[in-house]
Parts: sequence; structure tokens; C-alpha cells
Amino acid sequence: MVSRVIPVEEFDLVIFGGTGDLARRKILPGLFRRFLSGQMPAGSRIIGAARSDIDSDGYRQMIRDAISEFGGAEKSETGRLNDFIAQLHYLRVDAKGEAGWKELHELIRFKVVNAFYFSVAPSLFGDLAERLHTFKIADNDSRVVVEKPFGRDLVSAQELNDTLAEHFDETQIYRIDHYLGKETVQNLMAVRFGNMLFEPLWNNHYVDHIQITVAETVGVGGRGAYYDKSGAMRDMVQNHLMQLLCLIAMEAPSQFDADAVRDEKLKVIRALQPIDPHHIVRGQYDVNGDEPSYREDAENPKSFTESFIALRCEIANWRWAGVPFYLRTGKKLKARTSEIAVVFKDIGHSIFPGDEKRHRNILAIQLQPNEGMQLQVTIKEPGPGGMRLIDVPLDMTFAEALGPDADDTDAYERLIMDVIRGNQTLFMRGDEVEAAWAWTDPIIEGWKARNDVPKLYDQGSGGPEDAMALMHREERRWREIKE
Ligand code: NAD
Repeated sequence: MVSRVIPVEEFDLVIFGGTGDLARRKILPGLFRRFLSGQMPAGSRIIGAARSDIDSDGYRQMIRDAISEFGGAEKSETGRLNDFIAQLHYLRVDAKGEAGWKELHELIRFKVVNAFYFSVAPSLFGDLAERLHTFKIADNDSRVVVEKPFGRDLVSAQELNDTLAEHFDETQIYRIDHYLGKETVQNLMAVRFGNMLFEPLWNNHYVDHIQITVAETVGVGGRGAYYDKSGAMRDMVQNHLMQLLCLIAMEAPSQFDADAVRDEKLKVIRALQPIDPHHIVRGQYDVNGDEPSYREDAENPKSFTESFIALRCEIANWRWAGVPFYLRTGKKLKARTSEIAVVFKDIGHSIFPGDEKRHRNILAIQLQPNEGMQLQVTIKEPGPGGMRLIDVPLDMTFAEALGPDADDTDAYERLIMDVIRGNQTLFMRGDEVEAAWAWTDPIIEGWKARNDVPKLYDQGSGGPEDAMALMHREERRWREIKE
């Protein structure tokens, strides 16, 4: 396929937390790939800003190592890697103090696009925003990129929004949800709004239900203490799964621009019905031989935090009334996969003798580990033996276009280029984030009030039995969790 990379404008990108895990694993390897593709113009600079006491040469070595480890840089790219590394700079900056800010003011160029990536703990966002303003480093054209988590409830999200709003206009704020940067997510919008075929069927007349699954094989070991304060609802559902739900359920925006898309997503969140507690199953992974349990990983023997959640929700509008949306996500499950499945209704009546199976068309959209899309259709089983029907997947993945190594890193690099281009379509707006918390807060408060205890589930399984029952009692079943 012919690459049609359009270079962005020359930029200075400051990464606060530039020595951190996220910067080394995702952001810088991703930027290197954009550099290789020709999208990052010569003269652009990436300025790491963090607490570590190193100089630019030390930083360059750190990032060279990180790109070799996480970016899969080939030997053949050594020369290009040297060119990329030469565009890196480093400043020791203290978000809470005075160190480094004057130097940053002197370093930054005001004639090019400048963007500030807050890849640090959210408790530092306010300090960074304030100092960027006080030291006259950011101006009205600057962009700030903020990482998740964006608050831990509605009140803290509002506080964060207010703090950022003191120094930046909403049009300057880019709240990252890397799920939105995935190629398939954008393809989902292309399929929905670029084809005549699906729109007439995309409603409660033809759709039986929708499933969204984000399954992980890893546990919380390593970040257990941090995770234990959030749980699957805050860590995954409130942001990633709800964003996917919005994209699958929203009305067609009048045009593909940031506010038109985000207005429609917001309407979906606001139309979500409060959930009946019987429609939620929480789980914690159990001990498995030498593999520690969730509570051991979390170092909290009395933890009631969920490492798994499955829920059934409904959207109260004309398009979706009565259509259940089943969401589930968890750690230490059978396979690592993220999938959205639109399950259409059964055909009302079969004309084929002996065919008793409930044939259903399913549009399945995989986000990871492989990005792809299949439409399950029913056909005649080839060969003799009469009219026997089988369900087969029609592969709608354009493998060449998506590339073999599409992964999270792709999402980060795409989103950063959008920041430089000034395109907010794939970023969450402040009111969207607040609306999502307004929906999840009462659910979390309900668990607390009822002392809700998560159900144990086996590591390597599909979650607790009750999660299966959530579907079975409505004569539906979860799709298999597989890569
Ligand atoms: P990290 O702990 O690995 O790195 C933190 C960085 O912040 C370091 O560079 C450190 O020097 C810098 N820092 C800390 N205090 C500072 C101060 N006072 N002044 C200036 N710099 C300071 O963290 P991380 O894993 O890279 O995560 C960064 C942010 O990204 C967090 O908000 C996290 O929730 C979010 N996030 C991380 C991941 C991930 O995969 N690591 C994924 C999603 C979101």
C-alpha cells in the first residue's frame, strides 16, 4: 500500500514525566515511528522534563535504550535513530517547585506549535498548568495533553477540569483515552457512517444486543496497591468501555469534527439508565497454585475492590430502547482481547427443513491484540448433503491497511500527531468525562453502602459464574474470550 503520510507542522513537544514508564514504553517509541514515517518534520524537538538529575546526553541514552527495548528498532534504522535522538532534549523540572521553569521558558520556541504532555500523576496537573502560565511558557495556542485517570469520581474530575480551565481553554486540552486512537475504532466510524448497509439495521428493530469485552491476562501485581484504590469500574469501564459504547451507539454527527462527534457521544452517556444492582457482577481472581490471589497482589487481605466486572445497561432513546449492552472487563482472564460485538436478531422463521439453529448475524470488531472486523453470515455448507446451513465470518479486515503490528503504541503516536494538528475529535471533552463519572459514581457508592463483596473467579477463566448467568438468564451468551 502506498503510504500517504502528511507531515505535521514543526513542533516543540514537552513531555513532563519524560523519564517515566509511559514515556519510555509508549510515547517515545511511538514518536520514533512517526519520525521514521516522515511525519515528524526536521527541526521539531521533544523535550523530556522530569525530576531525574540527568542531562540531555543522559536522556538521549535512556531513550535510545527504551526504543531498542520497546520500540523494536531494527539495526537498519540505527542511522535514523541517531537523527531522531538528536532531536531530544532534557530539563530537570520540578512540578511543585521553581527548578527548571526559567530554563524551559528560554528553551521553548514560540514560533512553532508547542504542546505539553502531562505524563505524570494527576495530582501534579494543577501545579504544571499554573507554572506553565506563571512562567509564560504556554500561550493561547499551546496544547496540553493529560493522561488518565481523569479524576476518581465526579467531584475530583470537576476539580481537575476547573484547575485546567483556569489556565487553558477547552480547545487547548487533550484528554487521552488511547482506545480512541486505535485504527479499528476509527474504522468503526467509517463502517457505520460511510456505508448505507448498516445504518438501517443499527437500532432496536434489528439489533438483539451488544457486547463489549476488554479482557486481560495479566494481574495487578506490581501496581496492586495503586489498582486497589480504583478497581475495574474506575480503571476501565468509566473511560475505555464507555467510550467504545458511545462510538457504537451514538447518532451520526453532522460532520466528522471534534465537537459534533463529542456532542453525540455525550448524548449517549446522558441517556444511560441507572443500573439495577442485579445487573452487575463484580469479581476478584482467586489464588492459583503459586500464582497469588488478587488480595495478595493488592497487598490488602480485606480488599473489596473488583478485578473483574460485568454489567448490563440500557440506553433510553428511540434507537436503543430495550437493547441490552453487556460490558465486561477483567484481569487474569483466559486471553488478552478487546472486542465489540453487535449481535443482530434471529431470523424470524427458517424455511430450511431440519435447520433449528438460531442463526444470527454478528458484526465483531477486535481492537487488540489484533485489530480487525468480521461479519458473521449464514451460508449453505458447501458440498452434497442437502441444505445444511453454517455460520461463517466474512473478514472485513483490511490487513494491509492495518499492518501486522497494530498495537497500543500505534494509538499513542496517532493521538500525539492529532495534538500537533490541533484535532480534538479523538479526545474526551471535559463534559463527557464528568457525565461518565455522574453515571458510575452512584454504582460505586451503592457497593460501598451495601458492603458488596466481589465473587471469586479462577485465573485463566472467563470470570465468575454469575457473569455467565447475567446473560444466560436472558437466553444469551457471552462470546468466547480468545485471541
Ligand atoms: P512513572 O512513575 O513511571 O513516571 C512518573 C514521571 O513523573 C517520572 O518521569 C518522574 O520524574 C516525574 N515526576 C514525578 N514527580 C515530579 C515532579 N514533582 N516534578 C516533575 N516531574 C515529576 O509514571 P508513568 O507510569 O509513566 O505514568 C505517568 C502518568 O500516565 C500517570 O498519570 C499514569 O496514571 C498515566 N498512565 C500510565 C500508563 C502506563 O502504562 N504507565 C498508562 C495509562 C496512563
